[in-house]
Amino acid sequence: MNKQTLAEFQEHLKKSRRIVALVGAGLSVSSGLPTFRGAEGLWKNFNMIDLATPDAFYIDPGLVWQFYSWRRYSALAAKPNRGHLALAKLSNLPQTNFITITQNVDGLSARSGHNSDNLYEIHGSLFTLKCTSFMCNYIEYNNFKAPLTPALRGTEHEFLKSSLDSESPEFSPVKQMKDSELPQCPVCKSSGTQSILRPGVVWFGESLPMQELNEIDDFLESEEGPVDLILVIGTSGTVYPANSYVDRVRLQGGKVAIFNTDIDESEIEGKDGVWGFKGDAAELLPVVLEPLIGEVKQP
Ligand SMILES: [Zn+2]
Repeated sequence: MNKQTLAEFQEHLKKSRRIVALVGAGLSVSSGLPTFRGAEGLWKNFNMIDLATPDAFYIDPGLVWQFYSWRRYSALAAKPNRGHLALAKLSNLPQTNFITITQNVDGLSARSGHNSDNLYEIHGSLFTLKCTSFMCNYIEYNNFKAPLTPALRGTEHEFLKSSLDSESPEFSPVKQMKDSELPQCPVCKSSGTQSILRPGVVWFGESLPMQELNEIDDFLESEEGPVDLILVIGTSGTVYPANSYVDRVRLQGGKVAIFNTDIDESEIEGKDGVWGFKGDAAELLPVVLEPLIGEVKQP
């Protein structure tokens, strides 16, 4: 880590009153979670991107639930890392006005002890459940139950347990599931109708959650003053919506710190008030944030 960059950053950090962290997949990689498009983007020979759509769920909710049940198990097997813990500590400081905007659905920030009042999961979460009925707005946050229903038992294994040692292991078969075997909405049930729940993630073709976006806007345009600093963590600061938040903070006179294994020089070079920290965000964040949060222990 460049000493001068660190010193400049920390000098600014110590006088920052209002801070935003923008988090992407890179933060979860060192918790052992591959990025969504990693591993060729396949699950049991299905293209993951094809399964993450409203159409796929409409056609075969049982198939999509088996995929999401597997993703829930994978995320639960991972642990929040020291980067998640550093942000959690920052979120609980009384003197700092701070929000985290995460693009990750893995629930690791929520599980790290991050203050839930200032955590925005703008792509939703694998651990949020929503009713599929248009008449019903039931939503449940941080449901970490696994399996969610008896029929979803076994979905933690992508391959047949008996074939794991062989050179070409066989996929455990996808089950045909009836709606009654899938997670059910308790509110609809109590009024005598049956509605299934869906994963509370933002699928391809869906819009980002309006309420969360509005609350983030309120924070960015607060009368309490401009945002002093935005931390761009494990994500490219050049893709929407990350770039729009970075631009808005810069327009207010705020500074930018990028933490990523791969940083495009054009994001930093010749730009005043933009710092780049190249490396594993899980290792960098506890070091650079230390003046505010103190020591972060190993999880
Ligand atoms: Zn319902």
